[in-house]
Amino acid sequence: MSSREYDVLVVGGGPAGYYAGLITAVKGLKTLLVEEERIGGTCLNRSCVPLATLLKYLSTTDLIDKLSREGVGISVGNLSIDAGKLFNYVRSNVVNTLSESMRKTLEDLGVDVLNGKAVLVNDSTAKVGDSYIKFKKAIIATGLKWGSGSGVRPCTEFIDLNELPSKVLIIGCNPFGLSIASIYSMLGSEVIVVDEGSEVLKDFDKEVVNYLMLALAERGVEVMTDTVVNSVVVKQGVKEVRLVRGNEVLTVGVDEVFNASVCNPRLDVLGGLNIKLRDGYVWVDASLRTSVGNIYAAGDVTGLSTYAHTAIVQGVVAGVNVSGGNMNFTYRVSPRYTFTYPEIFSVGLTEDEAKSLGYEVLTARQSLTSNALARASMSSGMVKVVVDSRYGGVLGVHAVGYGISEVVNEASIAVTLESTSDTVINTLLAHPTLGEVLRDALLQVLKV
Ligand SMILES: Cc1cc2nc3c(=O)[nH]c(=O)nc-3n(C[C@H](O)[C@H](O)[C@H](O)COP(=O)(O)OP(=O)(O)OC[C@H]3O[C@@H](n4cnc5c(N)ncnc54)[C@H](O)[C@@H]3O)c2cc1C
Repeated sequence: MSSREYDVLVVGGGPAGYYAGLITAVKGLKTLLVEEERIGGTCLNRSCVPLATLLKYLSTTDLIDKLSREGVGISVGNLSIDAGKLFNYVRSNVVNTLSESMRKTLEDLGVDVLNGKAVLVNDSTAKVGDSYIKFKKAIIATGLKWGSGSGVRPCTEFIDLNELPSKVLIIGCNPFGLSIASIYSMLGSEVIVVDEGSEVLKDFDKEVVNYLMLALAERGVEVMTDTVVNSVVVKQGVKEVRLVRGNEVLTVGVDEVFNASVCNPRLDVLGGLNIKLRDGYVWVDASLRTSVGNIYAAGDVTGLSTYAHTAIVQGVVAGVNVSGGNMNFTYRVSPRYTFTYPEIFSVGLTEDEAKSLGYEVLTARQSLTSNALARASMSSGMVKVVVDSRYGGVLGVHAVGYGISEVVNEASIAVTLESTSDTVINTLLAHPTLGEVLRDALLQVLKV
C-alpha cells in the first residue's frame, strides 16, 4: 500500500477530464489523472470519434460509387466493405493512436496518468487499487454509463462487433441512436429505430429533421415513434423483440439490439463522500463546484452536458477555477449536431423556439446544390436561417447535408456573438468553401 500527494486529482480521462487536467498542469499544479479504461473516454473510444471516422470512410465509398455511376471519368471495380475488418481498424488504428497521443500530451505537460478506478474516501483522499492518493482539490469527470440488459447492448458497443449484423434494432430516435442507424444502414444492415416518444430529434429544427428522415427512409431505415420495447428474448442467436405501439403488438427478429436511450451518471467514484445530487447527477454551481467546497465536477456526470463540446468547455472551466481562476459555465448557445448520413445540426433557436420567445422572425432557406463544394462532393441538403426581423440578429442556423458539420462552428460563432445578418454577409469568406452556404442563406433573408 502506498500514498501519494497531489494538488489536483482528476477522475476520468474523457473530454471533460482531459481538458481539466491539461489546464491544471499548464497552470503549474501537480496533477494526477486517473482513468479506469482508456484516455479519451466515451467520446474517443466509443462514440463521436469512431462514428465520425466511419462516416468519413463510408461516405467516401458512397462518393466513389456516385462518381463511377455519373461517368465523370473516375471508376473503380467492385467496391467491397468488410465491416468486421473496418471496425477493427477503427478500434486499433484510429482510436488507439489518438488515445495514446492524448496520453502523451498530458504526460508531456507533467500530468501523472494512472490506469485504475478511483474512489473518493473523503474530501482529501482517494483510493486507486491498493494506493491512497492525497489531494487538495479534485475534479469528477466520470461521464455516463449506457444501460444494457438481456439481449440488449449499450449503444457504445456499436463498434465492438466482429461481423455485420443483417438486422439491427436501435432504441432512441435521438442524435446518438440515429448516427448509429446511419452507419449500420450504410454498411448494409437492415435498421429499425424505435422511440417511446412521438418526436424525432426534438431539439432540432423540424424542417431539417424532415429532410433527414426522408433521406434515412430512402436508405431503408425504418423509424417507429410512440413505440415501446416490451421484451427482448434471445432464441438460437436471434433476438425476438416485442414492440408495443398503441394497441398494436408486433414481434421482430433481429441480430443486435442497441440501447441509445437510457443512461445514468457514473457515481461509483463518490464512495463514501456525501455530495449533493440533482436528478441523480452531481450538482454543481455555475463555477462547477460541487456541494463539497474543494471538489468540482465537469462533463456528462453533471447532467448539464450530453455532448463532448459541452464536456470540453466544462473541463476547461473546472480546470481554471481549481487553479484559482474565476470562470462561469454558461451555455446560451449549445450546438446540437450528429454524424448521421446526411449530417444535421441545429444551432441557436429553432423557428418555433424563437416565435414562442416572442421574436418576430424572418426565415430563409438555401439549398446546398448551388454551393460549389457541395456539388463537388455530390452532396445535397439545405441550410435554414432564423433571423430577428427587428434588429437583423442571427438567432438560429439549422442545416442538413453531407459535410455540413464543417459549417457548425461558423454558425455557432455567429449566433454566440449575436452577429447580425449584415455582419455575416460582410465577412469575407474563403471561396469555394462549404461555409459560404451560411452567407448565401442570409442573403435570401434580404429578399424576404
Ligand atoms: C453513440 C454516441 C454518439 C455520440 N456522438 C457525439 C458527437 O458526435 N458529438 C458530441 O459532441 N458528443 C457525442 N456523444 C456524447 C459524448 O460521447 C459525451 O458527451 C462525452 O463523451 C462526455 O465526456 P465526459 O468527459 O463527460 O465523459 P466520458 O467521455 O464518458 O469520460 C468519462 C471517463 O471516466 C472514466 N471513469 C468513470 N468512472 C471512473 C472512476 N471511478 N475511476 C476512473 N475513471 C473513471 C470512464 O472510463 C470514462 O473514460 C455521443 C455519445 C454516444 C453514446
